[in-house]
Amino acid sequence: MTARLIDGKAVGQKLRDQVRQKIAAHTANGRRPPCLAVILVGDDPASQVYVRHKEKACEEAGIKSKTIRLPASTTEADLLTQIKTLNQDVAIDGILPQLPMPAHIDRVKVVSAIDPSKDVDGLSFYNQGRLGWNLPALRPCTPAGVMELLKHEGVNCSGKQAVVIGRSVLVGLPLQLLLVHANATVTCIHSKTINPQTIAKNADILIAAAGAKHLVTKDWIKPGAVVIDVGIHRTDDGKLTGDVKPEDAVSTASLFTPVPGGVGPMTIAMLMVNCLQAYESRI
Ligand code: NAD
Repeated sequence: MTARLIDGKAVGQKLRDQVRQKIAAHTANGRRPPCLAVILVGDDPASQVYVRHKEKACEEAGIKSKTIRLPASTTEADLLTQIKTLNQDVAIDGILPQLPMPAHIDRVKVVSAIDPSKDVDGLSFYNQGRLGWNLPALRPCTPAGVMELLKHEGVNCSGKQAVVIGRSVLVGLPLQLLLVHANATVTCIHSKTINPQTIAKNADILIAAAGAKHLVTKDWIKPGAVVIDVGIHRTDDGKLTGDVKPEDAVSTASLFTPVPGGVGPMTIAMLMVNCLQAYESRI
């Protein structure tokens, strides 16, 4: 079997175009454009690249972006004050602290300080609680992007065995909840799981979000499975690759998201969707 590659770039662009059109309609009616505030603490090179991508995506969608660059020495108290100011600013619709934060800053405190209606990363207790209840809310971008890809490809999750490798608050856990709400039977593999490949091989839908390069090989994949690769790693020659060995997925799965060009572009597209949602709930 040769897997068909899922084009996350094309699906993401379609979503971004829809967001742009909706914002253009709002501004044509005399409304102000949405505004996203991104807070970058320190000078982590990868974070700087991600923030630039977000600024570019905002510009293309007609969303104003305001990047607040703070030195790595910024105290937690100063950062919380900054977030309070953004919460109170009626012209700001979304607030996104770029993770990871420097070690002396407690990301739980930072995320919890954001007004949930502006929490476009969907990580606050309020939004994650509503996700647990399957109530409308701002959903975490990467898991929501994975679900959009499955929907776009016509993958019906109901009754399927879905296995998620990873249990982070950012990706693995919310993804498990979204899959349960889509009526899949969900199993989680994590770093302490015994015989992970035997469990993975049962999956009709296998999602790798472990942050372990090429962890998933042929003997982890059920023939014909849908394989979604969330992982992002840089190879020695500077290229991007994922948690799944691509040639093994291509020869075994029926559908596969490549890295790059699979889940990554969906994350940024869902951020634009969330900014629009946060804005529309305010105007
Ligand atoms: P994380 O480190 O917070 O969580 C990784 C999870 O995987 C943990 O729960 C851990 O228990 C599990 N795990 C680690 N090694 C394992 C192993 N060998 N076997 C089984 N389980 C294992 O990472 P994260 O933030 O959830 O991100 C996961 C990956 O997804 C990373 O590569 C990250 O760069 C990538 N990511 C991609 C996007 C995107 O837009 N494509 C967005 C967020 C994260």
